Amino acid sequence: MPDPALAQQMVDTQLRRRGITNERVLAAMAAVPRHRFASFDSNASAYGDHAFAIDCEQTISQPYIVALMSEALEVTPNARVLEIGTGSGYQTAVLAELGATVTTIERHGHLSQQAQHLLDELGYTRQGHIQFVVGNGANGYPEQAPYDRIIVTAATEHYPQSLVDQLCDDGGIMVYPKGPANGAQTLYKLVKRNGGLNQIDLGSVRFVPLVGHNG
Ligand code: SAH
Repeated sequence: MPDPALAQQMVDTQLRRRGITNERVLAAMAAVPRHRFASFDSNASAYGDHAFAIDCEQTISQPYIVALMSEALEVTPNARVLEIGTGSGYQTAVLAELGATVTTIERHGHLSQQAQHLLDELGYTRQGHIQFVVGNGANGYPEQAPYDRIIVTAATEHYPQSLVDQLCDDGGIMVYPKGPANGAQTLYKLVKRNGGLNQIDLGSVRFVPLVGHNG
């Protein structure tokens, strides 16, 4: 099967069927060539219903989880998004498809550079809307705060107060997994409005730990 057909099949069977309804998110997931983010040769497997390993002992999330997080983030065109954990750059590409302006931070220079090369090649960096930062994002990236949206793609052990502080007060949204490295983790959507916070539980998940995070 050609890759666009595999991507469309992924959208229909894994995302729509499980309740992802945002058409912009579904179109973004159909458009990003997920097989290019895999280091193995099987394209069918790259679009499969599972996470897979990338370099530096990290993982690229299952398509459904990427879609769920992207939908929960309510990305509007030109929204300023902070992504913590660039990894392969797959989620970054989905955010770019959604029209976001993204600052993405990754502690492994190798992964950050690899992601940047691939996103350059795929045309996602052309408009200058993606900034790659190598460093520790456990406490966010205050240099450019506040952000309209924050997405954390590694699990925080504690409530991430420093990240909440970097979210804009008027309708800022953060999506993050919280829980111990090898235990039960929960995906949360946090909305900040007029100084008040509202947090929604999106279900249980399994992410690599956010290194160096201590609340
Ligand atoms: N969103 C990625 C998957 C990321 S896996 C994708 O689509 O491929 C989580 C990533 O978070 C890993 O690459 C890991 O190195 C990174 N990470 C973990 N702790 C970090 C920290 N404190 N600062 C920056 N990046 C971190």
